[in-house]
Amino acid sequence: MARPAPFAYRADQLHCEGVSLEALATELGTPLYVYSRGELEGAYRAFDAALTGLPHLICYSVKACSSLGVLSVLAKLGAGADIVSGGELLRWQRAGGDPAKVVFSGVGKTEDEMRAALAAGIHAFNVESAEELTVLDAVARAAGKRARVALRVNPDVDPETHPYISTGLKQNKFGVAMDEARALFRTAAGLAGIEVIGVDCHIGSQLTKTSPFTDAIARLVALVQQLASDGIAISHVDIGGGLGIDYGKGDAPPPSPAEYGVAVRAALAPLTALGVTLVCEPGRVIVGQAGALLARVLYRKRSEAKHFTIVDAAMNDLMRPALYGSFHPIWPAHGADRPTIVTDVVGPICETGDFFARDRALPELARGELVCIGATGAYGAVMASNYNTRPRAPEVLVDGDKYTVLRPRETYDQLLAGERLP
Ligand SMILES: *Cc1c(COP(=O)(O)O)cnc(C)c1O
Repeated sequence: MARPAPFAYRADQLHCEGVSLEALATELGTPLYVYSRGELEGAYRAFDAALTGLPHLICYSVKACSSLGVLSVLAKLGAGADIVSGGELLRWQRAGGDPAKVVFSGVGKTEDEMRAALAAGIHAFNVESAEELTVLDAVARAAGKRARVALRVNPDVDPETHPYISTGLKQNKFGVAMDEARALFRTAAGLAGIEVIGVDCHIGSQLTKTSPFTDAIARLVALVQQLASDGIAISHVDIGGGLGIDYGKGDAPPPSPAEYGVAVRAALAPLTALGVTLVCEPGRVIVGQAGALLARVLYRKRSEAKHFTIVDAAMNDLMRPALYGSFHPIWPAHGADRPTIVTDVVGPICETGDFFARDRALPELARGELVCIGATGAYGAVMASNYNTRPRAPEVLVDGDKYTVLRPRETYDQLLAGERLP
């Protein structure tokens, strides 16, 4: 059953659940990130339901949206976490998340981060190189512990996504090559500080087909079978994250979590007799549609070639268009039913990359009008910076007709705190 859209018009006014966006923006100012709790929970539950019957652990990818408030909502639903830094581990614990459901990914874990994760008792380290394995073994032995490890392999499949978010090809920096994996597992099995429990991969983000996932899983399955014949029992298979969302560009929509679940189940079938647990690391598909960025129109102008709509949010608030050329839906907060013009929606920053939409048909927006940049829950607020000395936008969680400010707008004093004159 389809979930209600988190952002929808009621009597011509755009709402997030029961809260009018104009009312929110008037109260809290713009730019402003708004998240729907209902959508966050609905997306998590849909993903979980898609894996019903398979023993599984969903480790939400914290880097997609890491507000304590968002993490606490997911932790309460029973989610685990996929972290990529010591800072993310701290966030997860402060949000009430269970460290025993944490997997730690990333090619560059420091020894301090390893020690903190061992002390917290995380579920597993996703180890990405032979050298990292040696260091983790030494760190664990010095702490009198054994580190549970899944080796991240690089299955060399093309996820057919943007090159910057493609991670499972030979030329990417992630994981160990398939043909070296078996030997590295044997080495790992002989280390006193290491307990080998799993295999892991993550092939990319915003995938719009199931075939790259099933191709990658087939390679993991073959590896697990080889390892079994080497006497190395694997109890967990981590297939990473990467399921895409519909950004409303008009392309074929990505597979639903339910379709993904069916494909994953079929691909993993050869291992069910071995009793393995499936681990998934979804990020975007959990939070992407739950979030929107609100901005007000500052100015309009027309050059010889183009019409521009200049808004008060910028690439420091939402970097995805500048970084990946990504498409986001843009909705006026009041009445979409007006004649349209073709315009570029841009921010105030001195970079040509500072845009949210190019040559977009939108109702002609007046100065002061509120616009909503949709599908920005994932890789939005987390990538915000202070470029141009712009304070970071607040984040708000809407729940029915109530809302909570998860993080207030950064002040200039906070932004400059810690800086010293020579
Ligand atoms: C970024 C990342 C994810 C999450 O990717 P999504 O596309 O947001 O689902 C999962 N695992 C790892 C290792 C990642 O780096």
